Amino acid sequence: MNGQAGGYRGRFAPSPTGPLHFGSLVAACASFLDARAVGGAWLLRIDDIDQTRARREAADDILRTLEAFGLTWDETPQYPSQRAERHRAALATLARRGRLYACDCSRARVRAAGLQGAEGPRYFGRCRARGLPLESAGLALRARTPDETIRVVDRVHGEIAQNLQRDLGDFIVRRADGGFAYQLAVVVDDADWGIDHVVRGADLLLSTPRQVWLQRELGLPTPTYAHLPLVRDAAGRKLSKSDRAHPVERNDPLPALLSALRFLRQPLPPERPDGLDELWRWAIAHWRVRALPATR
Ligand code: GLU
Repeated sequence: MNGQAGGYRGRFAPSPTGPLHFGSLVAACASFLDARAVGGAWLLRIDDIDQTRARREAADDILRTLEAFGLTWDETPQYPSQRAERHRAALATLARRGRLYACDCSRARVRAAGLQGAEGPRYFGRCRARGLPLESAGLALRARTPDETIRVVDRVHGEIAQNLQRDLGDFIVRRADGGFAYQLAVVVDDADWGIDHVVRGADLLLSTPRQVWLQRELGLPTPTYAHLPLVRDAAGRKLSKSDRAHPVERNDPLPALLSALRFLRQPLPPERPDGLDELWRWAIAHWRVRALPATR
């Protein structure tokens, strides 16, 4: 299946920080089903952009688990850590457009300033007009966000609106250690791969307006978005691979897949399917985005 005919290119982008858990299985299933239901392509990105957290063994383990679950991907997986050239080019474009500045404020300093944004402490703007050289080593680069409301229509959550400057603040696109931020890499990598549908966890819903703004600044197309309900543990926290939370059982995929479908409020086969092929045939034929709950 190459998806060209349907014109749908989707992807699943797990971070290789630990074994696949039930939460990422849910995201894998939903993005896979949404693509396959229209004969589209489903690609795999091993999201290793944060080199301080990515682990090679975790990446291999995730690939093996997806295979064991019958989640077969098209094309060769993408590794953002190998795409620095493209990320650097995007930074150069932002710099040319006057959208970047260098910043030497520590995290503690940002926190101490006490401003709150959509995602934790909001940057208080100390370096905005200081003109620190963009090339200096050891400084983070921040995006100069506009005082403008960016609107995104999500297929599950409807319209999301965020004033980037007031609700979020100037965010980091390259860290002080030289690493590119996920927010920058993801828009470049999706565009280079021709991804036109993004289906992922609702923890990224509030990242989406800034990604849409970056797409606009970089002259890249905006995919459609669907954000999935998050799987939480008994204490209400999102499952995290780096905590090694609830890894899925590779040797017995059917029960976990049925649970994933149930979690996604999809219709279940009337009888226990006779293997993975039968389950996937059923799930692809019955996939309904409308049934997804708009919870975070
Ligand atoms: N790597 C991210 C995660 O594991 C997903 C990134 C994305 O889908 O844009 O939550």
